[in-house]
Amino acid sequence: MKPHDAMVIVGAGQCGARTASALRTNGWEGAIVLLGNEGLAPYDRPPLSKQVLLGERTTAQCTLYDEAFYRDNQIDLRVDAAVTAIDRAERCVRLSNGDSVPYRRLLIATGAEPRRLAVPGAELAGVHLLRAVPDALAIVEELVPGRRIAIVGAGFIGLEIAATAKARGCEVIVIEAAARALMRAVPEVVAGYLVDKHREMGVDVRFAVQVERLVADASGGRVAGVKLSDGTSIDCDAVVVGIGVTPRTALAEAAGIDVADGIAVDDTLRTNDPHIFAAGDVCSFPHRLFRRRIRLECWKNAEDHAKVVARNMLEYGETYSAVPWFWSNQYDMTIQIAGIPAFGTNTVTRDAGKSSKLFFALDGDNVLVGASGVGKMAEIAKDVRIAQELIAQCSRIEPRLLEDPATKLRSLMSAEAT
Ligand SMILES: Cc1cc2nc3c(=O)[nH]c(=O)nc-3n(C[C@H](O)[C@H](O)[C@H](O)COP(=O)(O)OP(=O)(O)OC[C@H]3O[C@@H](n4cnc5c(N)ncnc54)[C@H](O)[C@@H]3O)c2cc1C
Repeated sequence: MKPHDAMVIVGAGQCGARTASALRTNGWEGAIVLLGNEGLAPYDRPPLSKQVLLGERTTAQCTLYDEAFYRDNQIDLRVDAAVTAIDRAERCVRLSNGDSVPYRRLLIATGAEPRRLAVPGAELAGVHLLRAVPDALAIVEELVPGRRIAIVGAGFIGLEIAATAKARGCEVIVIEAAARALMRAVPEVVAGYLVDKHREMGVDVRFAVQVERLVADASGGRVAGVKLSDGTSIDCDAVVVGIGVTPRTALAEAAGIDVADGIAVDDTLRTNDPHIFAAGDVCSFPHRLFRRRIRLECWKNAEDHAKVVARNMLEYGETYSAVPWFWSNQYDMTIQIAGIPAFGTNTVTRDAGKSSKLFFALDGDNVLVGASGVGKMAEIAKDVRIAQELIAQCSRIEPRLLEDPATKLRSLMSAEAT
């Protein structure tokens, strides 16, 4: 191989692996090097907080592709290749073992790092984060019937773990510093609907209260309780922290690549260095529909970014403008979200079937910017999909039409496009 002939991907996660695959399907016949640091072939993370914790799937079953895939597609997957630096002048990345790998085009797909609790006791045994396979395996060990599990953070990860811990017969307490759940993700009414379900299932959900410190057991080594800012304390057998993530931008920053809440890319996912792209959880990108820079932490975004960034590494110059889509499962409920409901100023609720609801988020001009469906998959999935198309059209819609279950969403497709 000549120097600088390889497509190199830093981060053998979901976006990195899908990009490697898409480079091949888009006709790239040269070298592809996929550099990971987890010691594992790329895998799907969503089941880690769902089926894996429920014991319905092994972590091996989360693998994205088998060994034959990498061999047959001549993808040089290296799973113990931590990248320590990007040398833009030499156009190569440096690895922790001293090797360097030259690139023709480089993709940074390093994902995001879960935030740690910055309080005394956060390092005690029995305190867990959830991002990777070893985290999920450690948490599974904790979910023994009758044990008390304290979950810090009422975001999607925290609430999913609450639901699985409950299903496994644990007592569950959720502690959230904000006044409500899912502050950045969905409007209050949607979050309230979900929290009601958790409370019905017996989860003790507490808002506007912070963790002051984690308390050790008699041995001093393992967590046994949580001291809260309201003066109360909770006894517990384990703590799981789900207080959000931060994009892993250190490599880019050190290399002088622009960062703005994530590695700043343009709408083709290219950084300020023409040879370097970024995609997935790690990047922020300008979105035509929302007329601002956004960063997403979701599976579908990593999938869709991979398809476009692979083509743009091959100089197709395509604009990324997919409408965001996210899902979560909690108890027997599916939650599907299209667009960015948090950008709405007004939320309209519609009953959907016997036990489901749809929530439409409109901006000040009644332009649909987000839609959330909560309940049975069969009762919400189709309408969330249509809402996704309406969001793509920048449709301005009368709230009463959205509210009325008799209005077929498809009939609104001809609504005024702005
Ligand atoms: C428990 C869990 C549940 C989730 N559930 C859902 C869900 O229900 N719905 C949904 O839409 N999304 C969900 N997500 C989010 C989704 O999994 C992520 O958005 C997706 O994994 C992002 O893909 P990525 O490739 O950008 O990052 P990642 O999958 O995190 O991959 C990044 C990879 O880069 C590696 N890396 C980092 N730095 C280096 C380095 N210097 N050298 C080499 N390698 C490096 C990392 O170790 C990692 O392997 C969930 C995430 C988690 C953790």
